[in-house]
Amino acid sequence: MQDAGLARLCRACVPVVPRGGCRAGCVCPVRGTIVGMTELVRHVPGVSALVLDSPHSGTVYPPDFSYACDLQLLRRAEDTHVEKLYDFALERGAHWVEALFPRSYLDVNRDLAEMDSSLFDEPWPGPLPTGSAQLAKVRLGKGLIWRLTDEGLPIYERKLSIAQAMRRIDQCWRPYQAGVAAAVNAAHARHGYSIHINCHSMPAIAGSHATEFPGMVHADFVVGNRDHSTSSPALAELLCEHLRALGYSVWLNHPYKGVELVRRHGDPSVHRHSLQLEINRKLYMDEETLALNAGFEPLKRTLSSLIDSLLVTDPRRL
Ligand SMILES: [Zn+2]
Repeated sequence: MQDAGLARLCRACVPVVPRGGCRAGCVCPVRGTIVGMTELVRHVPGVSALVLDSPHSGTVYPPDFSYACDLQLLRRAEDTHVEKLYDFALERGAHWVEALFPRSYLDVNRDLAEMDSSLFDEPWPGPLPTGSAQLAKVRLGKGLIWRLTDEGLPIYERKLSIAQAMRRIDQCWRPYQAGVAAAVNAAHARHGYSIHINCHSMPAIAGSHATEFPGMVHADFVVGNRDHSTSSPALAELLCEHLRALGYSVWLNHPYKGVELVRRHGDPSVHRHSLQLEINRKLYMDEETLALNAGFEPLKRTLSSLIDSLLVTDPRRL
């Protein structure tokens, strides 16, 4: 359900909140507060039961990144422009959490234990990966801190220091997870349930070292709820059917089931629903130049209708 507080939106700040936040003196309930726990994470509290987060669309390459590969190659790892696809959702009361740093610097959709110890020339003092899923990601060079691009090229030509990695965790991973947790908790406390959409995009064709399905031609959308463990099956089906009814191809839990963010924040047994939504980049951008294409605005209208549907959905009644 939407909240009456939405009517008090600051008009000066519509339709897009500038990076620095609302204008001085703005008291709007939805957009007035930028809870910038670091300069690299943006958290805008909302009033609805809907939480959106965009973990991979960041384009601020921090000065201490010191990557050795080509920037254009590295940028292909971004879910570029995803934050723009959903910018309308803030004024409708959705909570919003966004990584401003790039995914290749630190991937917040990973557990702390998914550290690739071969990045260092000294022992990593933190937890290390266990289990086949965590080990597979690290083997692909796609752990918490990436070692390889999606094409399998090394990102660094040096070893990282333990202190550098710790700093990334403190400045990126911890505030991002705290932001999503705070948003989900606030939504749940106010409404008795939460719907968290973990927002991503995927290349039209999977890269050679991007996933466990190299070369796969992707559907228009992939919805993931880790085989119904992070949201109810009915809510996942609602997303799929909404998009299919608009003519899109939609796959559920294949080839992507959802990763750490939905695992960490979804618990449907207590009405906390988390779903990963992957959008095929060909629907809105040129994957070579990263420029938006003519599909951007129509896709945004599709997402707008989906978000409106979720804002009036109580998953306890599905
Ligand atoms: Zn992503």
